[in-house]
Amino acid sequence: MSDAGAQARREQSSDTVFGAIVRGEIPADLVYEDDLCLAFRDLNPQAPVHVLVIPREGIAGLTEAGEADPALLGHLLQAADVVAQREGIAERGWRVVINVGADAGQTVNHLHLHVLGGRALSWPPG
Ligand code: AMP
Repeated sequence: MSDAGAQARREQSSDTVFGAIVRGEIPADLVYEDDLCLAFRDLNPQAPVHVLVIPREGIAGLTEAGEADPALLGHLLQAADVVAQREGIAERGWRVVINVGADAGQTVNHLHLHVLGGRALSWPPG
């Protein structure tokens, strides 16, 4: 599946702030890492726990990951679950969010999963 928006995201994905975090060029508050991904606290948290899980590889978004490496998506979801357990929100409940494209408010063209919890999360999201 591909469209003009996805193409634009791919073209902008080669260097993002998250790529700089992966390369260690800018600091991040890491909570988890392994050979395929890392997780760090969001700079502008929307909940008491707000962690971003990103692949080390600079993949633009969900669509691109599904095309290039679908197994990576399972790995990232498992990593999100590990983060939720480590952060102490697994029992109460938590949410994983992937924003895709402009309408969803995706601002960084490097795939990232938001792990949110530590308070009751309303539904539907805004
Ligand atoms: P999205 O809107 O889904 O693209 O989410 C991007 C997220 O990245 C936002 O929640 C930002 O607050 C967060 N963010 C941007 N730059 C940084 C950074 N240097 N460290 C941590 N989080 C960041």
